[in-house]
Amino acid sequence: MDSANTELSQDTFLVGIGASPGVAIGEVYLVERSRVRAVERRIPASEVASEIASFHEAVAQAKHQLKDVKEQVADHAVSEHLYILDAHLLILEDEMLLRETIKGIERDLLNAQGALKRALARFRDVFEHMEDDYLRARQWDVETVGERIMRNLTGTRQTSLQEIDRPVILLAHDLSPADTLQMDREKIIAFVTDVGGRTSHTAILARSLGIPAVVGLETVTTLIPPGSQVVVDGGNGTLIVNPEEETLQEYRGRQSLYRDLEAQLGAYRELPAQSLDGERIGLFCNLELPDEIDLVRRHGAEGIGLFRTEFLFMRRNTPPDEEEQFRIYRQAVEGMAPHPVTLRTLDVGGDKFVPEFNLSDEANPAMGLRAVRFSLRERRLFRQQLRAMLRASAFGNARILFPMITGVCEWRQCREILDEVRQELVAEGAPMADKVPAGVMIETPAAALIADLLAHEADFFSVGTNDLIQYCLAVDRGNEHVAYLYDPTHPAILRALLNIGAAARDAGIPACVCGEMASEPLYALVLLALGFNELSMHASGIPHVKRLLRQAYRHEADELLSQLLSFTTSREVASHLEESMAKRFPEIFSPKPI
Ligand code: PEP
Ligand code: MG
Repeated sequence: MDSANTELSQDTFLVGIGASPGVAIGEVYLVERSRVRAVERRIPASEVASEIASFHEAVAQAKHQLKDVKEQVADHAVSEHLYILDAHLLILEDEMLLRETIKGIERDLLNAQGALKRALARFRDVFEHMEDDYLRARQWDVETVGERIMRNLTGTRQTSLQEIDRPVILLAHDLSPADTLQMDREKIIAFVTDVGGRTSHTAILARSLGIPAVVGLETVTTLIPPGSQVVVDGGNGTLIVNPEEETLQEYRGRQSLYRDLEAQLGAYRELPAQSLDGERIGLFCNLELPDEIDLVRRHGAEGIGLFRTEFLFMRRNTPPDEEEQFRIYRQAVEGMAPHPVTLRTLDVGGDKFVPEFNLSDEANPAMGLRAVRFSLRERRLFRQQLRAMLRASAFGNARILFPMITGVCEWRQCREILDEVRQELVAEGAPMADKVPAGVMIETPAAALIADLLAHEADFFSVGTNDLIQYCLAVDRGNEHVAYLYDPTHPAILRALLNIGAAARDAGIPACVCGEMASEPLYALVLLALGFNELSMHASGIPHVKRLLRQAYRHEADELLSQLLSFTTSREVASHLEESMAKRFPEIFSPKPI
C-alpha cells in the first residue's frame, strides 16, 4: 500500500485489494468492529468495592443503550428484532451473570473485566452441554450482552450499522459477512477495510449486493479522519483521500462510464452463452440471499450454480427449521424452474461464523470443523436440511452439493445420509423429484488429486476455486498480507483444474466452477478449455463473461491453454494470459481511456 503520513494531503492515493467493482464518492464513516479485549488482572482487596461499582455502572449503561436502540428501531423493525432486544434486557436483569461476576471480583480478587470474562466462559461451558436447541441458542444472547458490558467497562464503543442515517462510505478495521448482510444499499454506498482478501465472504457478499469495496488497506482506519471525503474505486482497489476537483471529475466520468457499460451489457441477457463456433457453456449464478432471485433472472442466468445456504443461518438467533428452509429452497427452485438450482449444504466455519454454533474458539477454523465436517457431526441439523432440500425438489430442478469433501468415505457418508432421508420422506409420502443429482465440491487438494475416484460416484462436480487456491497454495483467502500469493494462474492451480476437468469428462459428468475465478472474463477461455461446461458467479458478472465467450472460438481456448501449460512460473502464465487476451479482445481488456 502507498502509505501516507497521518496528515493526509490532498489527493492521497492508497492502494488495497479491489473487492467489489464500482465507483463511489462520499464521506467516510468509521465503525468499530474488532472484538473487545478484556484485560484480566488481580486486584488488592481495597479495590473490590470500586470494581463492583464499575461493573454495576457498565450494566446500567448497557440497559440504557439497549432501551435507546429499542426506541430507535421501534418504528421500522420487524417484531423479531424487538424481541431480541427484550431478551437482551432480560439477561441484564439476570441474577446469575451478575452474581457470577461479582463473585469473581470478591472471591478471586479479579478486576471487573477479568471476572466478567471468566463468568462468560463458565456460561459457555454450561450452554455447550445443553441438549435443548432453544436453550443452546440462548448462548449467543448472553455472549452479545456480555460483549456490550465489556465494551462499557473498557470504554470501547461499537457503532451499529443501523445508526447510519445518510449515504456514507464505511471505514472499518474488519467487517464480518453478517455485517455485510445488514448493509442498507441506500446508506452504505461503499466500504473500505484494513484487512481482508478478494475471496473472503465479506467481499463475495459485497459483489452480490453491488456495493463497491476495497479491502486489505492495512492501516487505513488510523489514517483517515472520520468525515473526510474519499473516492472508492472497487474495480482496481484504489482509495483517494481528499480528492482534488480534477480527480473528482475524472471519477465522476468513470462512474457514468461504468453505469453505461452495465446498461449496454443488459443487451446480452437474452442471448445464449456460446462461442462463435457454437460451443455452449452454462452461465449460472451464485446466490447468498433468497430475495436475489429476481436479480438473477434479470442478469440472464440459466440457473443457480451455488446457493450458499449458510447465510440463512446468519443474522438470527435460532437456526431456520425444516419448514422455513423448505419454503426458501422451494421459492428458489420454483422461481428458477426449469433451470437448475444447486443447493449447497451448510458451509459454516472458516470466516462464516454463526454465533449459536459456537465455532469461534478453533485455533485454525479454515481447517477445522467446517462444512460437511460440521454437518456430519450435527446430524440432526444435517438431516433436517436435506429433508427440506429434497422436499423442495418436487417444485423444479434441484441439485444438492456437499462442500469441502476430502475423501471418498466422507462423500459416501453424505450420500448415505441423503439416501436415508429420501427413504424417510418416501415412507411419509412426501412428494420429491425422482432424481436429485448429488454433487461434490472440489475445493481441497485431496479432492482434486482423487477427482477420478470421486467422479465415478458423484453426479456432478462443482469446483470451489476460492478454497482450492487457498488450500493448494497455503494462502489464507482473507489475509491481506499474503494476498500477493493468492494466484489462480499458479501452475499448480492450472494442473489441479486440468486433473478435475479431465476426471469429469472421462466419467461423463457435468463440471462447474463456482469460485470467484469463474466471474473473471480473463479466465473464461482457460476454464472452457480445461473442460468446465458451467460457470457460476455473482449476477452482475454474467454479462461480462457472456460477452467474451460470444466473441471467441473454442479452438482458440485450447491453443491458449496449451501455451499456458508450457510455462514454469505463475508470472509467465499471468503475463502471457493477460497479453493474449488484451490483444485478442482489446475492447474488453484495454478499454479506451476517458
Ligand atoms: C469456493 O470455495 O470457491 C466456493 C465457491 O465456496 P465458498 O466461497 O463459499 O467457500
Ligand atoms: Mg468454499
